[in-house]
Amino acid sequence: MPQFDAIIIGTGQAGPALARRLVAAGRKVAVIERKYFGGTCVNTGCTPTKALVASAYAAHVARRHRDYGVTVGGDIGVNMKAVKARKDAVVAPSRNGVERSLKELDGCTVFQGHGRFVSPHEVKVGETVLKAPQIFINVGGRAAVPPMPGLDQVRYLTNSSMMDVDFLPEHLIAVGGSYIGLEFAQAYRRFGSKVTVIEMAPRLIAREDEDVSMGVADVLEAEGIELRLNATCMSVAKHGNGVAVNVDCTEGSPQVVGSHLLLAVGRRPNTDDLGLDKAGVATDERGYIKVDDELATNVAGIFALGDCNGRGAFTHTAYNDFEIVAANLLDGEQRRVTDRIMAYALYTDPPLGRCGMSETEVRKSGKPALIATMPMEDVSRAFEKGETNGFMKILVDKESKQFLGAAFLGLNGDEVIHTVLDQMYAKAPATVMARAMHIHPTVAEFLPTMLQELRELE
Ligand SMILES: Cc1cc2nc3c(=O)[nH]c(=O)nc-3n(C[C@H](O)[C@H](O)[C@H](O)COP(=O)(O)OP(=O)(O)OC[C@H]3O[C@@H](n4cnc5c(N)ncnc54)[C@H](O)[C@@H]3O)c2cc1C
Repeated sequence: MPQFDAIIIGTGQAGPALARRLVAAGRKVAVIERKYFGGTCVNTGCTPTKALVASAYAAHVARRHRDYGVTVGGDIGVNMKAVKARKDAVVAPSRNGVERSLKELDGCTVFQGHGRFVSPHEVKVGETVLKAPQIFINVGGRAAVPPMPGLDQVRYLTNSSMMDVDFLPEHLIAVGGSYIGLEFAQAYRRFGSKVTVIEMAPRLIAREDEDVSMGVADVLEAEGIELRLNATCMSVAKHGNGVAVNVDCTEGSPQVVGSHLLLAVGRRPNTDDLGLDKAGVATDERGYIKVDDELATNVAGIFALGDCNGRGAFTHTAYNDFEIVAANLLDGEQRRVTDRIMAYALYTDPPLGRCGMSETEVRKSGKPALIATMPMEDVSRAFEKGETNGFMKILVDKESKQFLGAAFLGLNGDEVIHTVLDQMYAKAPATVMARAMHIHPTVAEFLPTMLQELRELE
């Protein structure tokens, strides 16, 4: 039985980096991957979707050529085979790079196949049983497919199968009006598809503040995307060569007919076929592995990192999990999950950058707070670039003057949010940024101005 110091199951955003650190510390490591090296982010998540979003943005700007005084010869077209080829060319170096770096890593042995626990310290891959005192689970998640009547009768797409699409769907129906569904919806609308988004909540990205949801909805509707809100998807059925979705709704048609169906209704962890019962590792009712603040499971020596532990659903949270585990096990530090400040982005155009608490959360907390908002129309850089959709919002604790959170829906919102995020980590009062001199013309130059105009959150 091959004996190692550590076994890592899955090569997502935490596993490969951890393998490198463990090997550098002199440990003998086994890494198991059942499919594509690099996991979701590299293969079916962040990297390919942002490559598609970039192609869609190019098409969008090209169609607006007259706004910028630019002439082009003829209609703007999108070649979906070329879009997919570009996306694949962006993905390939990352996937191959992860695979090559692990296979060439001295002290690391790569096993390709599905890993399954057979005991608390043994994992089986194919016919081989590997043994180690420490096991790190980094198995990620996959698209949730709801038990909807008719789904077994129709062809549907998920974020994974969308990666093979090299044609233009005539009418894409996206079920799910949250982060994943909306990025695909806007990209495909810009490629030229008719797009309908069906969302059962009364608004898109319902966990965001209402003004943020409305801002995103306005952008999407202005581009011609049909939004069906308050509409629960009840059943699906074949409709000619396409699909009909029957919705439970109070307004609008009870049936949406399209050519292709994308399911973007959430994720589920890849823990159902991992033999966790053989190891005695506890999960919650949704299958997420229960971990403590240092990512240890209830079984000594077994840790869970990334999406499968339910403590984050992003590449940066998975990578941060790696940093926490490495710091605690190898560097003699004490880092914890609860030390991190939640931050993420939605990559529609314009993007939404978020950190800390939302306005709704601040209101619920009852904390006395200050707020500042600014429409992107007032931001000169946005005006100059002809991209004035959205607004910026910052929340500050009235007593300590520390930042509570921010939402930047607008040009470069995904980047500008880090100015606030880093101040939050530094626990700096907002007066520091209020007095800073920022560069003109940038989006961030208006943050000091906004902070000089903070008002009571009523
Ligand atoms: C469409 C989409 C867009 C996204 N965009 C963003 C974004 O812009 N920014 C962002 O931060 N996040 C984004 N995410 C989320 C991000 O991709 C995930 O949070 C991140 O990949 C999680 O990494 P992970 O390390 O937990 O696992 P994963 O990346 O999911 O990797 C898990 C790996 O484990 C392997 N595996 C699973 N089970 C086994 C087993 N039993 N044996 C062997 N191997 C196994 C899998 O094959 C996979 O390679 C997006 C997700 C999707 C779906």
